[in-house]
Amino acid sequence: MKSYKVAIVGAGPAGYFAAQALQNLASEELAFSIDMIERLPTPWGLVRSGVAPDHPKIKSVSKVFEKIANTPGFRLFANVELGSDFTIEQLKERYDAVVIATGSPRGKKLGIPGEELAGSMSAATFVPWYNAHPDFKDEQIDLSSHKAVVIGAGNVAMDVARMLALEPSELDPTDTADHAIEALKESAIREVVISARRGAEHAAFTSPELRELPKLEHTNVVIEPEDISAAIVRAGDEIEKDTKSNLDAMIVIAEREPTAHERTMRFQFMATPIEIKGNGRVEEVVFQRTGGDEKFSIKCGLVITAIGYESPSLEGVPYAQGKVVNTDGYVEGNLYVVGWAKRGPSGVIGTNKSDAADVMKLLVSQLSEPKISGDITEIITHDKVVTQMHWEQINAAEVAAGEPLGKPRKKAVSREELLNLGAL
Ligand code: NAP
Repeated sequence: MKSYKVAIVGAGPAGYFAAQALQNLASEELAFSIDMIERLPTPWGLVRSGVAPDHPKIKSVSKVFEKIANTPGFRLFANVELGSDFTIEQLKERYDAVVIATGSPRGKKLGIPGEELAGSMSAATFVPWYNAHPDFKDEQIDLSSHKAVVIGAGNVAMDVARMLALEPSELDPTDTADHAIEALKESAIREVVISARRGAEHAAFTSPELRELPKLEHTNVVIEPEDISAAIVRAGDEIEKDTKSNLDAMIVIAEREPTAHERTMRFQFMATPIEIKGNGRVEEVVFQRTGGDEKFSIKCGLVITAIGYESPSLEGVPYAQGKVVNTDGYVEGNLYVVGWAKRGPSGVIGTNKSDAADVMKLLVSQLSEPKISGDITEIITHDKVVTQMHWEQINAAEVAAGEPLGKPRKKAVSREELLNLGAL
């Protein structure tokens, strides 16, 4: 029997699915000790701080994560940060293999004038703010204008637009951060424009997300029928299945009887943002008709860009174009990468399962003789490490606090609060 030590840096879906893949590859001859290291006091990555709170079913994958975490040989070391608490080099020396699973937390920029104005931000700020991520709890999001513009035609843009356009009391039975529910209840925003630079046939939404929009009970959802008929013509007869499914879902929305709610979510296509204007803060977004010369602008006080993400570079890890440089997940030496840090910000949570399984197969095929000694415990110098036991305490406390309020959990927001719940 050979026993190998693997460190996984990052406790999001990609990290957990990598751990699960190793657990599945274990046999009578092969065992793994898995140490998962996470910078926040809480694990689950985007399942906690990315998935929209009005989509609780997507979060049920956390049950799988907890099963993985409770499999013998797995240990969690949360509230331990790469850079300040340890280096990749220190892990590489002590573990047979190190797997980077740190995702792509940074929002891409449009690169247009005015993007830095107050009132313009990335979904990479707005989403963790409403999801109670400790690093974003103090963001001041100005919701005092009538209109907001969301740039991008992917599922993140859709989540952001929905969160802004929902009747906020619909968020009461969710695990949205209390500070966000409060702010959204005060919000003056009544119209959210979700703006795509290309036609509807190129939108990156997935059809289940589009199909649920007509079910919104307090929000008008507006798509112009001409935008979809033009998209159908451009898509032609050789249309891909997913595109057809999206366009079918959009036709249903476009052809519905108009509703007369107070709040509206409106889709705009073929509009390239060219400038954000305002005196000290956002007042309007200027667009150019894609493929044409026509310019027009939308007056608004908030612009949120949801145009993709990138990974920050990590010290000691080769990096290019917003990702860790890798070949099929292999980086160099005994270093591997999975998830968005490997392939960029694409795919749903489940995509990481097969992706991580492939990388872990490769990792196992490249293992040599097991290393004898050393692990993360001899590197960490502080005593506020959140282990699986502490996390289970935090988790149970949040769930218990949510119960009388009819919420799946009431999230603690600051690091201190979280550590307190874990009795640390
Ligand atoms: P995405 O699906 O890649 O969409 C990015 C959008 O931004 C595209 O419409 C893209 O348009 C647009 N864009 C990029 N650069 C732009 C620019 N310079 N100006 C204007 N528009 C620009 O990314 P995402 O929405 O961040 O989502 C990331 C992944 O997470 C996706 O795989 C998504 O499905 C997944 N996700 C899933 C769910 C869910 O299942 N409910 C929820 C959230 C996220 P072009 O096509 O023209 O480049």
